[in-house]
Amino acid sequence: MATGKIGVTTENIFPIIKKFLYSDHEIFLRELVSNAIDATQKLKTLSSFGEYKGELGEMNVKVKVDKEAGTLTISDQGIGMDAEDIEKYINQIAFSGAEEFLAKYKDTANSIIGHFGLGFYSAFMVSKKVEIRSLSYKEGAKAVEWVCDGSPEYEMKEIEKGERGTDVILYIDDDNKDFLDQVRIDALLKKYCRFLPVPVISGKEQEWKDGKYVDTDKDKIVNAAEPLWTKKPTELSDDEYLKFYHELMPGNDDPMFWIHLNVDYPFTLTGILYFPKIRNNFDIQKNRIQLYCNQVYVTDQVEGVVPEFMTLMQGVIDSPDIPLNVSRSYLQADQQVKKISSYISKKVAEKLDKMFKDDRKGFEEKWDDIKVFIEYGMLTDEKFSESAKKFFLLKDVDGNYYTLEEYRKLIEASQTDKNDTVIYLYATDATAQFTYVKAAQDKGYNVLVMNGQLDPHIVGLLEQKNEKTRFVRVDSDIPERLIEKSDRSDAGLSPLQTDIMSTVVKSQVPKVDKAQFIVTFAALRPEDAPATVTQNEFMRRMKEMAAMQPGGGFYGEMPDNYEIIVNTEQPAVKEIINLATSSLENEVTPIRAEIETLNNEIEAARKEATDKKEAAPDLSEKEGKVADLRKKEEDIVSRYASEQPKVKQIIDLALLQSHLLSGESLNDFIKRSISLL
Ligand code: ADP
Repeated sequence: MATGKIGVTTENIFPIIKKFLYSDHEIFLRELVSNAIDATQKLKTLSSFGEYKGELGEMNVKVKVDKEAGTLTISDQGIGMDAEDIEKYINQIAFSGAEEFLAKYKDTANSIIGHFGLGFYSAFMVSKKVEIRSLSYKEGAKAVEWVCDGSPEYEMKEIEKGERGTDVILYIDDDNKDFLDQVRIDALLKKYCRFLPVPVISGKEQEWKDGKYVDTDKDKIVNAAEPLWTKKPTELSDDEYLKFYHELMPGNDDPMFWIHLNVDYPFTLTGILYFPKIRNNFDIQKNRIQLYCNQVYVTDQVEGVVPEFMTLMQGVIDSPDIPLNVSRSYLQADQQVKKISSYISKKVAEKLDKMFKDDRKGFEEKWDDIKVFIEYGMLTDEKFSESAKKFFLLKDVDGNYYTLEEYRKLIEASQTDKNDTVIYLYATDATAQFTYVKAAQDKGYNVLVMNGQLDPHIVGLLEQKNEKTRFVRVDSDIPERLIEKSDRSDAGLSPLQTDIMSTVVKSQVPKVDKAQFIVTFAALRPEDAPATVTQNEFMRRMKEMAAMQPGGGFYGEMPDNYEIIVNTEQPAVKEIINLATSSLENEVTPIRAEIETLNNEIEAARKEATDKKEAAPDLSEKEGKVADLRKKEEDIVSRYASEQPKVKQIIDLALLQSHLLSGESLNDFIKRSISLL
């Protein structure tokens, strides 16, 4: 028997590692099963080169729970190790690796989230004692047993062992008894070992007998699933892809399509990415891509490895080139990982471009579903945004799809304004905004539908990327002004009329929750609506953006601002103006004159003080008088207006068209309409 001291300088590193890496204890199983698989694969390789002449037999990896003995055993029939191997690989390499690891991460061990290649050494995270019993494949090799209780001391001796290969026996410590539960072990194996290339056996298949489940003689293989991504795309049918998808994502609808990644230079990477069906709801589940390293499950936290927008996709990525034994922040900064990420992004763009070119109609049919992926990609990934230009589609209210280039050609002639800016008109709800859509179409304009969750951001992006481009929602102005081709014409009202009419209209606007109105006048065509309600594009967008952010911010707090544009050429409006002017002129004119006199006096007094460099005089009395007079004028006009049902009717019609009339105001409107009949 030999005893020895493992070459570790830190007296007792086991407690440290146990404490620091507490949350990730379960990965010991992944590490040990991976080692067993490696040993098996190595022997297969040696055999295929003729360096091992013996029988391979049926090789598998067994994981056995023995609750009574308190042990968990991982066995293989791989290459095994003799005393020399153990000295070299376990005593020196495995432990020096661990020591190096600790030295490097002692201070930051807490921030190491997840996955590191502690290898064999991780067994000590859950064990008070570890035993290796191994028989090497080499001819005439002697079986050995190695025992270590977690101190840097070990014992090694020759033993009798009939079968080639290695048993690693873990004496599970008291804190980790849950690893002696068959159900827990099965779940872990399912998570980490599902796609491993050698059968992994854990316990027995069960059957229902005499009112309970009992073990049968049949071994239970946990990794029956086939790692489809390792196969060539040309050899796979759609059915196989779909079957694999449902194995990965049980309970999901069929995906829309998938991309099979396969690259071996400048790095090795395979995988299948599925585009799930997401209709306009935003409860998208992220982290549905599983990362594998040579078929060993590593993580489903793929941020940093795949481009941000692709975290909406589902599937698997397998690459031995992704460094797994480091923290995530390091992963994101890693050059290799960056390359992988941009490669995946490029591949996805290529695939989409090909789909678009090969079958435009089919692509258009899928568009409403895949749009959210593409928009997310364009917003978060500069390069993808560049490639997406070729297949990004705009859809108009009649259901036609256009590429960006096609669309610009279509509208350029008719929708360029006086500043040479091309105006893209859009509706967010073609039904609710029907009147506005129709009015724009009547002017020969095309109207897009922009109703996706990300559309407000895409609108911003397109404006920023394309010169002389502006998006305007159809209801943000009257049709004449949506695309201004010449300077605005005068509404044709005198100052007195403007004053009177502003008050007439403003005083009759019903209360609308969280809304503010301003009144303006425009000389439109006589056949146009008497009044139209519009909402300023800029303010509306700011509010929409704010609504998407938690808290809402500054713009979220603001009320909605609307403009009521009164058409001074419309006959009913004309009549109201004339009647109001003639009825109020005599009463209002002297008040206005008085206000004007006072205002002139105030201004003169101020000017005099400034000229003489004196302090500002006290003008509060005069200012108070002006305010009183204004109030008086307002009261007179409002009282008059309240007796003019047609004024209310015109306003209500405009509000109704913009879905702003409800509750009591709507009821009043209906009653008034009936009485006007
Ligand atoms: P790694 O697997 O990253 O090399 P480990 O600490 O897990 O590091 O293992 C160290 C070495 O011990 C392995 O490279 C291998 O040579 C040897 N080894 C570990 N487990 C086995 C096993 N079950 N059968 C044969 N050799 C093994």
